[in-house]
Amino acid sequence: MNIKNDTYEEFISYLNKFIERNGGYCPNNIDKWFYQVDKNHKDVREVLGGNSIQKFYKLTAVENPIDVKSGDGGQIINEIEKLFPRIYEYLRKEDRSIFEYSTLAENNHNAIKVSKLIMKFAPRYFAEHFGTVQCIANTKELEKLLSKLGEVWAKNRTNDCELEVTLSTNHKGFLLLGHYGVDDNSCFRQKSSSPKDKFILAQSPETFVISVSKEDKRTGKHINVARAFGWYNKTTETFNVRNYYFRNGFQEGDFLELCKKLFSDLLGEKCIQQEDITKITNSEYSAWHFYQNNYGNWSFSKKEVGTQVCSLNYNGILCFRCPRCQSDFKSDSAFQNIDDDSYCPYCAKQANVCELTKTKTFKNLVEILDPSNRFVFVLEIIAKEYSSCDICNIISANLEHIKNSNVCTNCLETNFTTCDICKTNIIDDQIEDFGDNSVCTECVAEHGINFGLNETEIYIESIHG
Ligand SMILES: [Zn+2]
Ligand SMILES: [Zn+2]
Ligand SMILES: [Zn+2]
Repeated sequence: MNIKNDTYEEFISYLNKFIERNGGYCPNNIDKWFYQVDKNHKDVREVLGGNSIQKFYKLTAVENPIDVKSGDGGQIINEIEKLFPRIYEYLRKEDRSIFEYSTLAENNHNAIKVSKLIMKFAPRYFAEHFGTVQCIANTKELEKLLSKLGEVWAKNRTNDCELEVTLSTNHKGFLLLGHYGVDDNSCFRQKSSSPKDKFILAQSPETFVISVSKEDKRTGKHINVARAFGWYNKTTETFNVRNYYFRNGFQEGDFLELCKKLFSDLLGEKCIQQEDITKITNSEYSAWHFYQNNYGNWSFSKKEVGTQVCSLNYNGILCFRCPRCQSDFKSDSAFQNIDDDSYCPYCAKQANVCELTKTKTFKNLVEILDPSNRFVFVLEIIAKEYSSCDICNIISANLEHIKNSNVCTNCLETNFTTCDICKTNIIDDQIEDFGDNSVCTECVAEHGINFGLNETEIYIESIHG
């Protein structure tokens, strides 16, 4: 389901109320910002089929085994083994495969938490091998490692739940960053430390905001449980997600599974997930630094992909960069709109000027014969209104249509003659001269005779009365 796109007027009316309520920063050239956001989201909007998309998914409780050999899981287990070398002997387990799941199914008994089981034996081992002080320190350290491992388990586990997810590239979606309920402490919030950042993010290429909500069973209302931002890469068909905020108790595994389902649907193929391959560039300018919570760094695509870059576009907010000479200006008040962009006054002076409309352009002008038969240079769109002469190829505002072809007035004069019988303009090599009279070959053939000079005169007069 697509959510309605705001018109500029609707957005401004919303924005005014929003700023009135929350205060804080707002770009002063909001019309340009609004336009930039639209201009820089063409690829992702094509995939979404609109500015935003809303979907509902039902997740089922599943726990997938974590990677115990490598990755975060493997590294944490290495450290646990260093701290507690005889762990498998104490637990009466074969090897580290006991770490694959957060719980162990013990025959007919209820499942036991792996971390609980370890904490049952570890202090005894520490007490037997170390003094009291070291024993306490080691126990604390082990608890820390197990809690880290708990995060890895959580990422690979989903709960039975129904979730609503919205992926938005709408102006409003970005404006609300810091106001989704789960991200109150985000520095994107109005009046917070980095108020410009969300406006910069919004106008950066192919960015989006993801928000997730869940029905509150008591009130029946949907409440936000997570939000993140990200960007789409058309070349590698990858959705990148960063800056994750979540409500306490909402499982990361649920969010990741939801992302996998959503992006698989959008890309039309089952997605794989990669971690820590994204990079945000262009994130410093003068005293500004793009600040973000680094929690979450996930990429979803059909197959394994390389580094995913988001290059921030702060133009128009932190400075005004002329797209032609690349110089930065403090203000764009002297900039001129040319073609689809805005240029510094120095570049604007060098633009071409259409002789008919006086419009400036950096594109090449096209030469045409204007309505008063003067050669002028005009914009391509103006030239497209006219056709070209089939003989000399010059685009002309004054073309005569003769027997399925277009002929300019110049060519008409030099290459055509009016037949004295049918009175039409005929190309010269199909004209026969009879003294002062010119007759086209068709008329000659129709009348089937070779006239004498005087007879032609009389004959033509008789036709026209
Ligand atoms: Zn310039
Ligand atoms: Zn011509
Ligand atoms: Zn004729």
